[in-house]
Amino acid sequence: MDYRPELVGGQLAVDLVNTVAWRLDERRRVDRIADPANLRKWLTAAGLGPSKRLTARELGEVVRCREAAYAVLRPLAVGVEPAAADLVVLRAEIELAVRKASLVSAHPLTWQAATVVDELRLAVWRLFEDEDLGRLRQCDDDDCGWLFLDRSRNGSRRWCSSADCGNRARARRHYHRHQTGTTA
Ligand SMILES: [Zn+2]
Repeated sequence: MDYRPELVGGQLAVDLVNTVAWRLDERRRVDRIADPANLRKWLTAAGLGPSKRLTARELGEVVRCREAAYAVLRPLAVGVEPAAADLVVLRAEIELAVRKASLVSAHPLTWQAATVVDELRLAVWRLFEDEDLGRLRQCDDDDCGWLFLDRSRNGSRRWCSSADCGNRARARRHYHRHQTGTTA
């Protein structure tokens, strides 16, 4: 099926983590960027541009960075402390990119990543540096598993997408109400 990237995470690194669909249901889980053509689509949608074809090794690096980020972000999204070992792995990813990055401007402070993969690693760094991770949430759907920064004023966002998971939940509630109505 035609892949149309959905960027609902609110930040590049969160959107990267969301390139796995149905993360919490292993029978349905799909890695959307396992296909290089889809990865290019995602990079373009994310504003990183299809500057060049990523090699198989780079694709592997993107996935490794994504999983390192997910291992730390998921616990944070559900209010649990990340494992120390996972933090070490994520730190190594960030260090890899920072070591190669150049500072193009001191004011405003602007880092230039050396590669597209490094751009994603720096996005993870920026997520921790710039964002309030107390607003990081996991979609309320049982199987979805997508994460997002809840930027709503009262912190009430429940779904990755109200048109998608939110809609399904509403349909389910409606169905159950209907069912109990007829059996009662
Ligand atoms: Zn969802």
